[in-house]
Amino acid sequence: MRSFVSFVSLLVGVGSGAKCGLAAGNAVCDPELCCSEAGICGTGTAFCGAPGCQLSFGPACDGNQIPAGSDTSKIPRPLFGNVPYGVDISHCSATGKVALTFDDGPYIYTTELLDLLKSAGVRATFFVVGNNGGKGHINNPSSGYVPIIQRMIADGHQVASHTWSHQDLNAATPEQRRAQIINNEIALNSILGVIPTYFRPPSTRCGADCYNDLKSFGYHVVNYDIDTRDWQDGGANAKSIYQTILSQHRPASSQWISLAHDVQPFTVHEFAKYMIDTARGLGYNLVTVGDCLDDPPANWYRNPTTGQAKDVRGASPPAVLKQSASVGGQQGSSSAVSSGSSSQSLAQPTAPGTTAKTSSSVVPTPTAVVSVDFGLGKIVDGTSTSRTAAATAVGASLLPSSGGATMPTSCWAGGICLIWWILGLFMV
Ligand SMILES: [Zn+2]
Repeated sequence: MRSFVSFVSLLVGVGSGAKCGLAAGNAVCDPELCCSEAGICGTGTAFCGAPGCQLSFGPACDGNQIPAGSDTSKIPRPLFGNVPYGVDISHCSATGKVALTFDDGPYIYTTELLDLLKSAGVRATFFVVGNNGGKGHINNPSSGYVPIIQRMIADGHQVASHTWSHQDLNAATPEQRRAQIINNEIALNSILGVIPTYFRPPSTRCGADCYNDLKSFGYHVVNYDIDTRDWQDGGANAKSIYQTILSQHRPASSQWISLAHDVQPFTVHEFAKYMIDTARGLGYNLVTVGDCLDDPPANWYRNPTTGQAKDVRGASPPAVLKQSASVGGQQGSSSAVSSGSSSQSLAQPTAPGTTAKTSSSVVPTPTAVVSVDFGLGKIVDGTSTSRTAAATAVGASLLPSSGGATMPTSCWAGGICLIWWILGLFMV
């Protein structure tokens, strides 16, 4: 039956509402459509948002989009400094230090976190994702994230990569894995004028081929030794986890890399201050990941032309190309325009720490997307958890339906679609 369905799909195409993916005989959606995590073709954040959208079966998945900016894949990648490349680093080297790390942002809460860190005099590390949860391309000025990421640098934080769309790098094809690395570079380079040398694989999923890729692209692979699980149950256990680990050791003989997420309101509104106060109360110093590895700031980034180390402190960020694409999961592949395209116009250069001026002199504010799924609960430390629960924790309500022959109302208009749905009933 499945082969028959696949044969039919070749004849009628795989349109909106049709099944796609492994459970549908590897059916691929039409070029303008996304294949949701539940295996249904469609459009909108619920279908296209990363990391749930299935890259191999949904051509228009957010994770398949390419950001505007110069291609960085061919630049030299000299390996400078004393921190090893392409191997798991989960521990600081300098005692008495705690490196707070925030993953999966920026998002609508990140500015509040930056304000808190600044008022507390704390420097942290942000593992940035380029296009997840339907938030849009981080380097699209209309998304509002450009000045936020530039502020991270201006405030003395470290900016590192956490992939373009938070895909599982072990499940990705080699081409998809490299695109996850390079596309985030392209976006960050267009915002900062440099390429990070620090990287964290989503959910620490990175096999031998993944580590080899990251070494060839000149990345330190930084994981963590405190998993606060701030995404789980509204952060119910996060304070206990963090405080217990720190208090059971002494600053004179221990050091830590702590994982939290700036896409979590609990973390930004409450937990970040707790982490700061607790660490300081126990005698730890709060530093960036680079600092806790005794790596000079110049080594945290590389020049996008020469590949050599580049110190960004005090440097002006580049002008950022304005894209015509809208924010959210509906940018489509048409937003994958190259630098210098006639469809773009230049925004004004922005001084570090100041408010960006776009061509319209209005800085957009990042807005919450309707359906947020950052995939936090998908795989954590090798244990499958409830993805829906994680999405709910950040305000989601519109995950695609899972299982069964779900058919959106829009599908009713097409007779072929109806036939397809009926055939799909036999595959459940
Ligand atoms: Zn993550």
